[in-house]
Amino acid sequence: MIAEIICVGTELLLGNVVNTNGAYLARRCAALGLSCYYQSVVGDNGGRLKEAIETAVNRSDVLILSGGLGPTEDDLTKETAAAVMGRKLILDEKSKESIASYFKKRGMEATDNNWKQAMIPEGALILENHNGTAPGVIIPGEVPGNGGETEVAGKFVHIVLLPGPPSELVPMFEESVVPYLSALEPGVIYSQTVKLCGVSESKVETQIQDLIDAQTNPTIATYAKMGEVHIRVTAAAADEKEAKKLTKPVVKELKNRFGYDIYSTEEDTTLEKAVVDLLMANALTVTCAESCTGGMLSARLINVPGISDSYKSGYVTYSNKAKRRILGVKKGTLQKHGAVSRQTAEEMAKGAAFVAKADVAVAVTGIAGPDGGTEEKPVGLVYIACSVKGKVTVREYHFSGNREKIRVSTTAAALTLMRRCMLEYFSKVTFGQ
Ligand code: ATP
Repeated sequence: MIAEIICVGTELLLGNVVNTNGAYLARRCAALGLSCYYQSVVGDNGGRLKEAIETAVNRSDVLILSGGLGPTEDDLTKETAAAVMGRKLILDEKSKESIASYFKKRGMEATDNNWKQAMIPEGALILENHNGTAPGVIIPGEVPGNGGETEVAGKFVHIVLLPGPPSELVPMFEESVVPYLSALEPGVIYSQTVKLCGVSESKVETQIQDLIDAQTNPTIATYAKMGEVHIRVTAAAADEKEAKKLTKPVVKELKNRFGYDIYSTEEDTTLEKAVVDLLMANALTVTCAESCTGGMLSARLINVPGISDSYKSGYVTYSNKAKRRILGVKKGTLQKHGAVSRQTAEEMAKGAAFVAKADVAVAVTGIAGPDGGTEEKPVGLVYIACSVKGKVTVREYHFSGNREKIRVSTTAAALTLMRRCMLEYFSKVTFGQ
């Protein structure tokens, strides 16, 4: 079965709203074993939407549309899909009651145009909306000839219409569309992601070139993320158990090759979560002393639920004065080596560990640009120090890109260094450079 996603809304075309529905629906289709070859975005324009639906019924079996089910004049999705399928719109009393009760519960009254949302194409299935007013719709059936016989006349398609707001679309998809689509296509596509930190994508690719060259099912693909590399292993099979059986030996081989450079193979585990898990496992307290990252590192750690057992306080020490006053960095160090130096990073980490009484302290100092670089110390030069129970490691980095990219890369590198230092200290793991 081939699926196609059409997201409707001029705001998407203009870039005012990020098309998260497209990404979500694509992920879910893959998980349900539907091959998705096309995805498009169309504005609130009847003519162009009709063209998009007509093109899609030609080449796909399942069309999933998001948006344009609202009560206003420019909400045209249902009307257009019904027209392409040669169906009339009929008032559905049950949907009308649901809309009335939705408004009543909120102490409001429905306006006349709200009843437009209760108009359903003949022969369609209605998907209840528990989080808004527009019901979803599935139109299953044969594509009509529409006067002159078209090439696809008689082809059986399923057109799924979902409301635009993600808070309505996602629950509706999970509750009603997943069971419907699962019944159509028994196969699954299952993926597992092997997540690495502290290694470059090119190095990872070189080390698995033989696996990539030999891939059939499962397939192997690498993705570079800020400071991380993900290897996605994807298998197609009749059911999840069978698919997992196919991915398992490949994931095992990747674990053999990359060892501790892999921080997780769990879908939900982020790099900061892996770091926090290590802190918790060793009952460690942690602090951060940040200059150019300005709190980004602390923010990523604090994003992880349960961090309050480990993280008590952190410091953004941007000026030299703050580095001296709060962290006790020596005036002589700053004068002799500068704020962006190995020595300052080390003193920042030691000072933060002392002031916060923390087992682990990580300090960051660097030049994020666009100004402030010199020949000797260019933009992108960063020093990160990590102290674990008094054992301090300092590393020098050279990042490229704009200010934001340098700050984000620095934060990822700091998390990677924390993880390495903890593993070296507590698990006696040795990492290369
Ligand atoms: P409503 O009944 O709220 O009008 P609708 O089905 O008509 O719903 P739209 O009017 O197209 O949907 O979109 C409503 C809002 O949903 C948009 O302003 C936008 O915030 C969000 N939205 C729409 N499409 C998408 C999308 N593809 N990805 C993310 N958000 C979206």
